[in-house]
Formats: sequence, structure tokens, C-alpha cells
Amino acid sequence: MIDLNLIREARERIARSVKKTPIMTSETISKDLGNDLFFKCEHLQKTGAFKIRGASNKVIYEANRNTKHVIAASSGNHGQAVAYIANQIGISSTIVVPEDAATCKKDAIKAYNGNIEFCGTTSEERIERAKQICEDGNGVFIPPYDDPLIMAGQGTAGLEIVEQMDGIDEVYVPIGGGGLISGIATAIKESNPSIRVIGVEPAIANDTYLSLKEGKRINIGGSSTIADGLRTSIPGELTFPIVQQYVDDIVLVDEESIKQAFTYVLARMKQLIEPSGAVSVAGAMKRNPEGKRIVALISGGNVDTEVIPSLLK
Ligand SMILES: *Cc1c(COP(=O)(O)O)cnc(C)c1O
Repeated sequence: MIDLNLIREARERIARSVKKTPIMTSETISKDLGNDLFFKCEHLQKTGAFKIRGASNKVIYEANRNTKHVIAASSGNHGQAVAYIANQIGISSTIVVPEDAATCKKDAIKAYNGNIEFCGTTSEERIERAKQICEDGNGVFIPPYDDPLIMAGQGTAGLEIVEQMDGIDEVYVPIGGGGLISGIATAIKESNPSIRVIGVEPAIANDTYLSLKEGKRINIGGSSTIADGLRTSIPGELTFPIVQQYVDDIVLVDEESIKQAFTYVLARMKQLIEPSGAVSVAGAMKRNPEGKRIVALISGGNVDTEVIPSLLK
């Protein structure tokens, strides 16, 4: 499905559109926890989340084959990423968002010249509308995770981690539809199989955890977790087999511990991240393998400022 070569190709293709994000650490946090905890800072990525990696890989690939219009159905970060890259390479985009989409995410799509369409509140409704727009206007649908080019693009963050650091024991990655972790796990396991890849899900959005337990994809019918990037109801058809193959373990975190991690990163690291990005930090703090060198991937930093007080612990 995907392999290290596809991820290396993705890196070439997207080199001019994405940043190599820094890795940060805090002696205070590591001392508190009794391990060496590092943060891969995708909240400092262009558009404020890792999604630009996969979106760029797919959109540039399609544009090279003469596509002039791309369409995405996204509650935020993916839509923002598709609008950004389409604008950058000079093609048009339409982003179908839920009626309750966060203001900062809508504003960003507009700033990148994306056309916004509002549709319902569920991802099923949005995807149906997006596909209809594709049929009406010859556009190409850019899926958020269940696509080899998207997964390979997200995997470039994994290549960077293994190149930026030595002696890593574990990497913690949040799971929504599973595009991010399937790309990262492929990059890591095919570079250095001794590194453990740990998925983290909110306990109230545990579709991947349940699916791994049952050995088949389970639909939990949506979730209200504060980690809005992780509300997918079922793992992807293409991402799930890769998760089964490469992910070593899943940690579940409750809503309070996501807030705790958010507050911790803000207070100690002086970094503003979004709840979905705090989930991996919460997972690393919960599992807390003592004396290990571990990396938590902070997946994004797009949070409405009005929401911040409700996230503080
Ligand atoms: C999309 C997203 C995720 C989840 O990624 P998947 O590829 O769907 O698993 C995690 N964090 C943030 C900030 C996101 O935007």
C-alpha cells in the first residue's frame, strides 16, 4: 500500500510547501516525569497542523496531471491545508465545512481564497456534498486520510523524527482516521523497527482501539471529544491494516487529561496547541515509560481563542 519509497517521494514533492518542524524539550517536564520527553512541533507547521503534508502531496500530484479544482470535506485543518496548497500552486478549491466549524478555521480557509460551502454536521453529509461538487464541476476530491498519497505525505513527519533524533524508544501519535499514524508508523518501522509507535485516542473516541481488539473496523457513531480533529467514527479502510501491522499499542486518555496536557504545554513550554495536539502529550504522560527517550507528536495548534479558558486546568 505505502512504503518508505513513497514517503521519500512525497518529501521531494512537498519540499517547497511544508516546513521541517522543530523538536522541543523541557528539562522541567522530563524531570517531573522521570523520562526524556520531546515534542515534534507540527503546531508550528504551515497552516498550523501536519495536514499540509498529506494535502500538498496529493494536490501537487493531481495538479501535475492537469487538475484545476480540488474539493475537500473537512471540519477544519484538512480543509485549511487543501485551500492553502491549492492557492499556492494556482488552482481553485472548494471546502465543505460543518455548520458549527470553528471560526479561526473558517477564516483561514477564506484567507487562502478557498470557497466555503456549509453542509450539515456529520462527515457523511459533507463527503456526499463534496463528491457531488466534484461531479458537477470536474474537480478532484482530496480525502482527509484514506488515500496512499495522503498517508505518505503525513509520513514525512516520521522521516524527520528519525533524522532529527537518536536513540528514540517510543513515538506517541494521535489517531483520528489514522492517516497520520499509518504514514508515521511506516516511515519509522521501515527505518528503525526497534522504535515503538504508540497511538493515542480520546477514551470517548476509541474506534481504533476497539477495532484493533475486534480485528475489524468498528463504527462508534461519532464522538463529542474536545479533540475535534479526532472525532472520526471508524478507522479508514486503507489506514486500518497499516495500524494493525505497525502500531505497537494504543493509549486511551480522558477529557480531563487532554486539558491537563494542554495547560502543561502552555505553562511549561509556552506553546499554544489545540486539544487534538495535546492528546499525544496526555498519552505519553499517562503511559510514562520511565527512563525512556520518547517523542509526542503535537499535531496542531489551531484553537479559537474564546475556547482557551475552558481548556485550562
Ligand atoms: C486530522 C488531525 C488529527 C488526526 O489525523 P488522522 O490522520 O485523521 O488520524 C490529529 N490532530 C490534528 C490537529 C488533526 O488536524
